[in-house]
Amino acid sequence: MEEKNKSGDSLWNDIVRQVKMLLPTELERNRMDRLFPLMHSPKLDGNLYVIEVGEQIQVEMFTNLYSKMILEALQTFGIKIGEVRFVVGKDITTVQQQQPQFRHTVQNTPQRGVPSTMPMHENYTFENFVKGPSNSFAHAAATAVAKGPGRTSYNPLFIYGGTGLGKTHLMEAIGHYVLDKHPEMSVCYITSETFLNEYVNALQNDAMQAFRERYRKVDLLLLDDVQFIAGKNQFQEEFFNTFNSLMGLHKQVVMTSDVAPKDLKGCEERLTGRFQQGMVVEIESPSYETRLAILKSKANAVRHHIPDEILKFIAENIRSHVRAMEGALNRVVTFVDFNTDIPLTLEITQHLLKDSIEEEKTIKDLTVDEIMRTVAQFYGVKMDDILSKERTQTLVTPRQVAMFLSCKLTTRSLVEIGRAFEKTHATVYHGAQTIQKRIDVESDLRKTVENITSQLGRNPSELTK
Ligand code: ADP
Ligand code: MG
Repeated sequence: MEEKNKSGDSLWNDIVRQVKMLLPTELERNRMDRLFPLMHSPKLDGNLYVIEVGEQIQVEMFTNLYSKMILEALQTFGIKIGEVRFVVGKDITTVQQQQPQFRHTVQNTPQRGVPSTMPMHENYTFENFVKGPSNSFAHAAATAVAKGPGRTSYNPLFIYGGTGLGKTHLMEAIGHYVLDKHPEMSVCYITSETFLNEYVNALQNDAMQAFRERYRKVDLLLLDDVQFIAGKNQFQEEFFNTFNSLMGLHKQVVMTSDVAPKDLKGCEERLTGRFQQGMVVEIESPSYETRLAILKSKANAVRHHIPDEILKFIAENIRSHVRAMEGALNRVVTFVDFNTDIPLTLEITQHLLKDSIEEEKTIKDLTVDEIMRTVAQFYGVKMDDILSKERTQTLVTPRQVAMFLSCKLTTRSLVEIGRAFEKTHATVYHGAQTIQKRIDVESDLRKTVENITSQLGRNPSELTK
């Protein structure tokens, strides 16, 4: 609370405790834990008890939910007032703008010659990371590194993948784990951007020696979003030296980037070459099942029961990345918090997420090429085999499966799909029909096709539409 007055502060704490006692169910108490931190500067003002909140919608909801109870609580303490009033305060962060909780690992000012570290998200731990086929390699490598920093051959560990897929989460999980098990180790989490800024500062202040010494004392260097060093040649030189001396001392380095080392444009080859000497792992877009599992775990984390049907709807429709999915879930959770009397239906969810769903459609339309590649990989055949005219059954099935999925999961016409397969539209139609008939009777094949669909990030239920 921002209330400066000590007695006001403790009065507020008493109110909080009292209101909690008045709430009959755990669900309501959990909701209170989430909502009360949004209230600020409570104070007695004549006949009123005034509490500031971030926005108008909160004024209405909090008034409905809590004003009577707070009034009752005040009466219990012998304070008689006319009304509890919520008002929109200035400079108050809203639900969406709330800062994530951070855990400060090392103070922001350098200590004992150890470099400054940026705060890590408290909840980016291994426990909170949902494993799935899209991230299992990255997860396994990260776990190994966390258990033996500097002692595995995974040094450096280089994690790459699209935005919002969990790279920072996994990297910070290593940091948390190491800090828990080895509090004596110095862990430095820093984004490349900040690292670069510190370097520039050191240059300007003639403090390079100190900069170098500090970074070379780190036991675990977590360098996030390394793609930022692209094109910064002088800095790359400095980083190369830091990197080499850490390697020489068997210290652990973990990096993330949105592209693979070899695709880091504007980065010297000797540097990208070094990045590849340990372990390079990719995080891919999660499948439908993994997305659903992540949603369930996030819903659990906010101690909210959101019906399966709703979570499935989100997983099905928000596919681009996990962060977008979390945003969608937050919107639903906020709605539930503020509308306790309205049951959450699919229709309401659809309405709440209308904009994000529209946006998704423009982001992720699968290409026929992606489908062919995934199918080929699944069956262990080559892309060329899919495109060939070879008619052995081991090739015909994957080819027709790819045709079937292209018809079901893309918006392309038969003619366009035909072109991609170097076949006629009639051949594509026949192929897709054949698979359609076969999966109705062959459950193994149906499972295969569903698995591939899921790997493509889509929901198998789309196949029946
Ligand atoms: P990136 O660094 O790849 O852009 P982040 O690590 O910031 O992505 O992840 C974005 C959000 O998605 C975070 O809130 C993170 O906790 C969540 N997230 C991503 N992948 C997973 C996962 N496998 N399990 C749980 N949460 C995940
Ligand atoms: Mg990140």
